[in-house]
Amino acid sequence: MSDSTREALLARVRDGDLRLHELEDHTDAETAAAVRRQVVESRSGADLDAVGDYGFDAAAAAPNIDNMIGGVAVPLGVAGPVAVDGGAFAGDRYLPLATTEGALVASVNRGCSVVDAAGGATARVTKSGMTRAPVFRVADVAEAEALVEWVRANEPSLREAAEATTSHGTLLGVTPYVVGNNVYFRFRFDTKDAMGMNMVTIATRAACAVVEDATDATLVALSGNLCSDKKPAAINAVEGRGRSVTADVEIPREVVEDRLHTTPEAIAEINTRKNHVGAAKAGSLGFNAHVANVVAAMFLATGQDEAQVVEGANAITTAETTADGDLYVSVSLASLEVGTVGGGTKLPTQAAGLDVLGVRGGGDPPGTNADALAEAIAVGALAGELSLLAALGSRHLASAHEALGR
Ligand code: NAP
Repeated sequence: MSDSTREALLARVRDGDLRLHELEDHTDAETAAAVRRQVVESRSGADLDAVGDYGFDAAAAAPNIDNMIGGVAVPLGVAGPVAVDGGAFAGDRYLPLATTEGALVASVNRGCSVVDAAGGATARVTKSGMTRAPVFRVADVAEAEALVEWVRANEPSLREAAEATTSHGTLLGVTPYVVGNNVYFRFRFDTKDAMGMNMVTIATRAACAVVEDATDATLVALSGNLCSDKKPAAINAVEGRGRSVTADVEIPREVVEDRLHTTPEAIAEINTRKNHVGAAKAGSLGFNAHVANVVAAMFLATGQDEAQVVEGANAITTAETTADGDLYVSVSLASLEVGTVGGGTKLPTQAAGLDVLGVRGGGDPPGTNADALAEAIAVGALAGELSLLAALGSRHLASAHEALGR
């Protein structure tokens, strides 16, 4: 597009004749982003040259961003390779981590090398299902009970309506909750390789239409917050949401002593007093040291919905000395919401992150790639927990940050 046409669009926006989000109706996505940058630069005084230096196709990113002005670049590093024996993820792999926190990748990398020296980690997805929980208004508790009974008796017709909206999703079950004249139904779906939030929202809407047609209940909101998406919530920590995944490793005592400069006993004690007792006293939902660090960095690296780090941090770390005097460590993430199709997974740098793990796109059979991604993140979290607990055990945490200038 010529400079004069661009200037003309800029003038129309400045005159209030065109709104920022209408620019794509008059020009291509790259030019629209450039015009918006100029508008924002002139209003704010910010220099947005670096923001305009992005490495993806603006038109292709349209489903992922509105009012686009450019991109934010986050440094990407790798930890590993680390050997994993997973239900879906197996072999020696590098783990991609995008972060601006210095020392994080180094810490996970140290954990990976110790896991590797111990023969690798084991990881399994133990439960899977994405949820949506609409809220209905009823007259009173008698009607609430009748509605619950009706839904229980008619689950097959709800399933039929919901599954007609997707070729991949299947309804696993519906759990009712009654609070006065509010009735919540927590729909749980197998979403295969999709994180599934859009998929289950559309499918649940179709099921709700069946409920409204056949009963006197009124749908108040398609999401009634018992789902529960992007809020700290015990229901996710207890019941799971997305993938519930566990990784563990048994590390010989000499590896702990030689490489981590501490002992199995010290790590087990720190884990109990910090991750369990301290977290309980704090009223935390996360009984871990810094699982959110790895979840966030691997989410950014692989195109996940970054706000769901909230649920991803619902993790419990255990550590104990075995009968042989070695160290057993595990991390269980209750609600890790991940996908290898849809959302941000198609953006080129994020797709490359999935390629590093070998889990891009739909799995064969469907669901196995998202399972593998969940297992990879769990192993990264395990490595991160191990490294931080060891740093505390050897009292190296502050000095490590100091030495790395951070
Ligand atoms: P999506 O990009 O909306 O849809 C992915 C679609 O890919 C699926 O619906 C499915 O189509 C298709 N697909 C192809 N191969 C598949 C395979 N192997 N496994 C599963 N599906 C396959 O993604 P989504 O995961 O449903 O939703 C993620 C997006 O939702 C993210 O962008 C996130 O930010 C956003 N989000 C939405 C809400 C909300 O309330 N709506 C809340 C939070 C986040 P079929 O269904 O036709 O089979």
